[in-house]
Amino acid sequence: MTSHHHGRLAASEVVPTLLALLLTSCVLTGCNGGKELATQNGVLITPPETISTFRLAGSLGMAVTDQSAKMVSMRDEHNTVVIFADPGGQAYVNGKAVAQPAGGVVRADGVLFVPVSFEPAIRAALRRAPPPAETASPLPSPAPAAPPRPAALGLVVIDPGHGGQDPGATSIYGDQEKHIVLDVALAAAERLAQSGVNVRMTREDDRFVELEARADMANRCRADLFVSIHADSARNRGAEGFTVYVPRLATRSSTLAADSIAYRLKVAGVASRGRKEANYRVLVRTVCPAVLVELGYLSNGREAARLASASYRQLVAEAIANGIVDYLQGS
Ligand code: ZN
Repeated sequence: MTSHHHGRLAASEVVPTLLALLLTSCVLTGCNGGKELATQNGVLITPPETISTFRLAGSLGMAVTDQSAKMVSMRDEHNTVVIFADPGGQAYVNGKAVAQPAGGVVRADGVLFVPVSFEPAIRAALRRAPPPAETASPLPSPAPAAPPRPAALGLVVIDPGHGGQDPGATSIYGDQEKHIVLDVALAAAERLAQSGVNVRMTREDDRFVELEARADMANRCRADLFVSIHADSARNRGAEGFTVYVPRLATRSSTLAADSIAYRLKVAGVASRGRKEANYRVLVRTVCPAVLVELGYLSNGREAARLASASYRQLVAEAIANGIVDYLQGS
């Protein structure tokens, strides 16, 4: 992961029904918009105790249906939640304003961040599923002709960082991050498939994929886990070891997945820097539990040499896959 290459913003559209509301609020506030915050080394600088609206949707069990720089809407079977950056960060649940809390909505990299206190306030206002209607007991169904296929362990999106015109970091031997992480990701995907996990990849060859498209894929297919794979580079040539990142104020699921992967990497003998929190741009856009693995430092002689070898890449890939399977199996 280096600083400048984690995608660009796509234009978003505001649904017409919300336009009127937006215009009203613009008249009231002069349409200053939320405060736009900075990005540093691919990590968003956001106030403490705020989470992205994508991660908010995930913890509420909802899907983001629309999002722009000024609003986000999310939905489940029974509810629609809309949050506006103007004025003062008002959230609406099924058209009704949520009394508390208001304010503190900020924007970073085109994504709205809200205080964590929004989560319980919105949750309390959500409509529950209606009780199931009384129905006559169904007719006994005939025995199935073929034995049912064993259910998959889950659906995981593997995201090899960079690609195409975006090479990522370059090792001291000239190897490019985009090739190393693709190799590891493909091997991890193969191992996952063998273990009964459904896998989708954001790219399977050396092509450029927009950051939003990577997160969108996970959001659209309702993945159980999103794992982005990168390799580090630092001015300090001594820096060494893998790091597993989760978004700030991560849900328990993201943390468990990260710890499972970190454990397997450590057991495989990979130097460890452990789990850290950072609002990487790709992590704050995913609704499902999300983890970003930095395989090691391409700026470190020993680590760059190891990551250049096929056997070490295979070792790392299997460790990541095993960690994901551990997580999906709940062990
Ligand atoms: Zn990277």
